[in-house]
Amino acid sequence: MSTFPSTSPRDGTIKAQIESDDSASVRAAVRRSRTAQVQWAKKTVAERGRVLERIRKRFLREAEGLVEVLTEENGRPEGESWLSEVVPNGDLFTYWIKNAGQYLKRERVPLNPINFPKKTAFIEYVPRGVIGLISPWNLPVAIPVRALVPALMAGNGVVFKPSEFAARTGQKLAEIFQAELPDGLLEVVQGDGVVGAAVIEHHVDMVLFTGSEQTGRKVAVAAGLKLIPVSLELGGKDAAIVCADANLERAAQGIVWAAMFNAGQNCAGIERVYVEKSVAARFIQNVCEVAGRLRLGEDVGPLCTPAQLAIVEKHVEAAKAAGAKVEVGGERGEGDGYWFKPTVLTQVGDDLEIMVDETFGPVLPIRIVEDVDEAVKLTNRSRYGLTASVWTKNVWKGWEIGKRLDVGVLTVNNHAFTGGIPSLPWGGVKASGFGTTNSHLALEHMVQARTVLLDRSNATQELWWYPYNETLVAIASALRDLGLGKLSALGRLLSNLPKRFK
Ligand code: NDP
Repeated sequence: MSTFPSTSPRDGTIKAQIESDDSASVRAAVRRSRTAQVQWAKKTVAERGRVLERIRKRFLREAEGLVEVLTEENGRPEGESWLSEVVPNGDLFTYWIKNAGQYLKRERVPLNPINFPKKTAFIEYVPRGVIGLISPWNLPVAIPVRALVPALMAGNGVVFKPSEFAARTGQKLAEIFQAELPDGLLEVVQGDGVVGAAVIEHHVDMVLFTGSEQTGRKVAVAAGLKLIPVSLELGGKDAAIVCADANLERAAQGIVWAAMFNAGQNCAGIERVYVEKSVAARFIQNVCEVAGRLRLGEDVGPLCTPAQLAIVEKHVEAAKAAGAKVEVGGERGEGDGYWFKPTVLTQVGDDLEIMVDETFGPVLPIRIVEDVDEAVKLTNRSRYGLTASVWTKNVWKGWEIGKRLDVGVLTVNNHAFTGGIPSLPWGGVKASGFGTTNSHLALEHMVQARTVLLDRSNATQELWWYPYNETLVAIASALRDLGLGKLSALGRLLSNLPKRFK
């Protein structure tokens, strides 16, 4: 088996070597999961919930170990790992354990007794089977947990491929689950994109993918060729619109946090600010004060990979060359790690990479606009549509402005944090993908809604069976007339029905 290194983004040192899977071992993992899933699906939701409750407790008990590996492998500041990767996920387990039974309950569907006599219908929710879970490196606990918990509660097996840049975190997380689950139900496969592609190739029943737009397109094609469903949570270029009546101190604090959190490596990180002209100078001054106080290492970690650092540097250098003004930062940090200083830019052109493509770094470009209409137009110019925020003291006005934005999540006077609330749907539009994470709506990807019809009729004939004759046409036309409210048709219906069923 080949191996690949796990490198610390803080100093570039190699911390471990990970064994990579190949096509044959991925195939074997899918088979093991499929075998285990058949038994798992026979358990009631309540029984599965009891297993997940044991995993919840183990997850919280063993959180220190997860945070340690996150800091080493991802470079995250410790407090941030606790607050974004551990604490909200405890609630996520509880949400699904408590609510999955109600969401997955069989639903009785009433039928018209004249058209469908002696028939009972209901919808039951059947697990998909084995789900392929392909995850990115930027939130390597939170993102897989949001999929694993509901997928398992719904009766599925999972083959999980963490990013090669979060392989150890993925392994550790999976071990916490595997300690309580039946053997084989959750399988981990390690490696790069070739291993991710093999997960789709080897007959999983659906794919939950979170990652970049570019890879998302490849995954969509591969899943399309296999005719398996896919959910795509892709990149973003989130905008914040700061209105003239905003609380400018709060806006500066909140926007800097949402831009710099996880060193900007957040699908819903703020990557563009549109601020109304009349308050722009004061807002920019506030932002510079807040961003200028951030400590590299303690508040803002390194970029996770050298490739990501190169993208951030390229976007900032191109903006500088085109005349953007560096208000704060604007360059790499010192040391051997993948550091980039928290950066604030102004005087940025709308067509620069930094305003168009996903930068995924600790960089906040601010663009002054004439009015809210211009801000809305520029926000919607993006090919992405994950989330956006509007900052104003009048929340109803903020909501009205938000209705004009092409995004999957809208927040007024806050940004991005709702992804950590398990009861609220998360997902984007346009190049940010399709599919839903969190809330009962996420189950759409994890179960098949199956119609079941039970017929207790002993009649030798149904209305719509053979023979086709004049009586059938008379009944059909009477039913149509009743549908139009012509009660006189009732007589025709009642006189013809006995002829049809004699
Ligand atoms: P990538 O698209 O590079 O990778 C995502 C996953 O796909 C990784 O596990 C990767 O493996 C794997 N992969 C790569 N090629 C293929 C392939 N051909 N077939 C199947 N799998 C493949 O994303 P990043 O890891 O760089 O993550 C950052 C991106 O994720 C950003 O664009 C960010 O916006 C987005 N994201 C979106 C979220 C959302 O909710 N909308 C949430 C978080 C992140 P490997 O890493 O080993 O190459």
